[in-house]
Amino acid sequence: MVILRIPTYPSTLSEYSMNTDFIYDIPQSRVIFGAGSIKFLQREIELLGAKKALVLCTPEQVELAEKISSILGDVSVGIYSKAVMHVPIESAKEAREVAKELGADCAIAVGGGSTTGLGKAIALEYDLPILAIPTTYAGSEMTPVYGITENGIKKTGKDPRVLPKTVIYDPELTLTLPLEMSITSGINAIAHAAEGLYAQNGNPIMSLLAEEGIRALADGLRKLKNNAQDIEARSLCLYGAWLCGYVLGNVGMAIHHKLCHTLGGSFNLPHAPTHTVVLPHAISYNEKAAPEAMQRIKRALNAPTESTAANALFKLIKDLDGPLSLASLGLTEPDLDKATDIALANPYWNPEPIEKNAIRHLLQNAYNGTNPN
Ligand code: NAD
Repeated sequence: MVILRIPTYPSTLSEYSMNTDFIYDIPQSRVIFGAGSIKFLQREIELLGAKKALVLCTPEQVELAEKISSILGDVSVGIYSKAVMHVPIESAKEAREVAKELGADCAIAVGGGSTTGLGKAIALEYDLPILAIPTTYAGSEMTPVYGITENGIKKTGKDPRVLPKTVIYDPELTLTLPLEMSITSGINAIAHAAEGLYAQNGNPIMSLLAEEGIRALADGLRKLKNNAQDIEARSLCLYGAWLCGYVLGNVGMAIHHKLCHTLGGSFNLPHAPTHTVVLPHAISYNEKAAPEAMQRIKRALNAPTESTAANALFKLIKDLDGPLSLASLGLTEPDLDKATDIALANPYWNPEPIEKNAIRHLLQNAYNGTNPN
């Protein structure tokens, strides 16, 4: 058993003001957490009442999918290994056909957000339960949000049927995630929690989870950097990713997610690295408008009093050798005006009002990789 050592709160919650008017109505998944917990897979499938499970994975994770399939024996009806980023409609259709032909009554999504996304696309049509086994920190397994890409445009929606019924978090399965991807995936998760802290429909419970999630991930990622095979650090990161994903699934996101969606969707930038670069700049944009959220971020990162939350995040990413500039991800300077226009096209809520010049400035800083002020 791995003992999770989470740093304790340096101060009490009473220093913070709190929104006391809120609705707490949270759909639940069953969660099995712990190193080696994949051994409970058969029991969990039985508890779902499933007899024919289809295992989903990316082409890169076939070996793991085969291992999962062999644990299940006859209950596994096959492996569909063509999950790819952003769930193209063609692969969603093909996977649905395969599930139908094999008479699958359950989908097991083993992998990152791309594989979970494919499971969601099947569940949307066939209403079968998903058992998710996440191997990154993206958090899709905790959300009822799905996305399907058709003609180059990713459409997202929310449906309770796509929320995985069971999630097995086994940190041992994340040991193979390369360090660089672990860092950006972890910051991607922190971004969910950071924006959850100032969500319009936020509530004190989600804020507790968000702060704890940021703390666990920041601590876990720093330890991972020293030793990517440290199972205690892996456990801490996956625990943090669970909490951050939970926040993503239950409260609204704002400017940061909007910008990353724009940069990923329209400029084909990689998902987790884009989140990593943009986060300190988006947080800086909201620094004045969301003081309580900033206090919590700083506390979770154990930042000195004089630091801003944005600076503390920038420092974390720098210390972890994460990507700092959009230029390094392949964006070109002329793209910045276009990205600003796309991001502003659909109005959305953000604590700091959305203002064109300020967003353009934010993107320029993210492009250059300069420390946000
Ligand atoms: P991913 O699922 O695309 O995985 C990236 C690569 O890493 C893949 O090749 C995968 O096979 C490999 N990989 C995953 N785990 C591994 C491991 N343990 N060892 C070795 N290789 C491993 O990346 P992601 O960042 O997890 O997911 C990104 C996608 O998820 C995006 O399309 C994003 O929009 C979506 N997403 C959706 C939600 C939601 O709520 N719907 C939430 C977060 C992310």
